[in-house]
Amino acid sequence: MKAHDGMYIDGAWRPAAGRDVIEVVNPADEQVIGTVPAGTAEDVDAAVRAARAALPGWSATPPAERAARLAALRDALAAREEEIAGTVTAELGSPLAFSRTVHVGMPIAVAGFYAGLAATYAFEEKVGNSTVYHEPVGVVGAITPWNYPLHQIVAKATPALAAGCTVVLKPAEDTPLTARLFAGAVDEAGLPAGVFNLVTGVGPVAGQELAEHPDVDLVSFTGSTAVGRRIGAIAGAAVKKVALELGGKSANVILPSADLARAVNVGVANVMSNSGQTCSAWTRMLVHHDQYEEAVALAATAAAKYGERIGPVVNAKQRARVRGYIEKGVAEGARVVAGGPGSPRERGYFVSPTVLADVTPGMTVAQEEIFGPVLSILRYDDEEDALRIANGTVYGLAGAVWAGDEAEAVAFARRLDTGQVDINGGRFNPLAPFGGYKQSGVGRELGTHGLTEYLQTKSLQF
Ligand code: NAP
Ligand code: MG
Repeated sequence: MKAHDGMYIDGAWRPAAGRDVIEVVNPADEQVIGTVPAGTAEDVDAAVRAARAALPGWSATPPAERAARLAALRDALAAREEEIAGTVTAELGSPLAFSRTVHVGMPIAVAGFYAGLAATYAFEEKVGNSTVYHEPVGVVGAITPWNYPLHQIVAKATPALAAGCTVVLKPAEDTPLTARLFAGAVDEAGLPAGVFNLVTGVGPVAGQELAEHPDVDLVSFTGSTAVGRRIGAIAGAAVKKVALELGGKSANVILPSADLARAVNVGVANVMSNSGQTCSAWTRMLVHHDQYEEAVALAATAAAKYGERIGPVVNAKQRARVRGYIEKGVAEGARVVAGGPGSPRERGYFVSPTVLADVTPGMTVAQEEIFGPVLSILRYDDEEDALRIANGTVYGLAGAVWAGDEAEAVAFARRLDTGQVDINGGRFNPLAPFGGYKQSGVGRELGTHGLTEYLQTKSLQF
């Protein structure tokens, strides 16, 4: 158990204004592994003032110099790879190999990408008799969730910094230790004081203060739709920019011509990965009625193999929530073919990898984001029916289509109301724009689109 002190504000670790702390718990064994200070309005205000003061200097820094600092940040993260992976495993519970490759490897690649983009992006262009400048939006308030502790921070902070914005981060209360390691890497990379600031704390206090702070120009939030809606309303009232990356209920559509076994196996792996705590997970599998029972049997077998391999969910509240959804599914008529609501282990916030069959589109488990290792399998009659079911939720973040012929899958994917679709098991691409249609959010992260979120344009006419 380690008591971590201070907030990273204005280029140094400073004592928190209040005395309250947050306990960080290892979800695999329920032990308290450390404490961090719980930030207050005073801490948030100090961080925002530091970010505001640093803005003129950083926004005027030549892009090549910003790129050099970001490259140094990428290297500082890479140098801490093992420590970060171990910390993600300790506070999130994910298996160490997954922490290394995904939780740490992917954000290092993203940081490297934004270092490169800062150096090459055209921040200035000619349009007829105008010169258009792409200028930083200003002070960014970033509020991140716990499901990918480092990735969520890097996906906001590095494009914002590349754009010339300054940043105040409020990370999830469940995973603040990874955020502190990120701040340490910023410090080592030699970013000027105040360009990046960290305030740990709880959402309704530190998070809300940051979203409401009048000197924040853009709020970038990833998390639940309930909180996202509030943040959107606050930003709307203040006429400030907002980026929201919210939930998902993505469909994995297996067309009759597809390789069924492959589509089902990859589909199950997608849902069980990170214990189901991925907003873009394909939590609804859609199968033609002729192939339905075969798919259910394949999925049950595949899910059973994950029993000992997946980590816990992040905390007791999430475990209760996920189990509640499984019970609700059963009460509404779903059939448990793998896992179930029972506890697979004595200690830790584990949930059994669960597959629900006979799920129909109106059921709660087919409509709401569960955020746990739970797959629902639905039946469709024909392609039009599959499309109606796939598009029949308030969400539109991701999805997958499988078919014997790529063109057939692409034609179907073009009709999905969703921001990302993987064709026949296409791999995640951290350079492709990521974000939602409908209530899955506003704006895009990653790639060049992720940079432009943090820019505003000024036109000069000659
Ligand atoms: P959440 O409350 O929306 O958390 C996201 C972030 O917002 C955290 O940093 C949180 O702080 C902060 N926050 C909470 N209330 C706030 C407020 N009033 N004002 C400003 N910031 C606030 O999500 P959660 O409770 O951790 O998870 C609940 C559900 O959200 C999950 O079951 C899942 O369905 C969904 N979720 C989605 C994603 C995604 O990637 N889209 C990620 C995580 C969760 P605290 O950490 O202190 O709560
Ligand atoms: Mg919360």
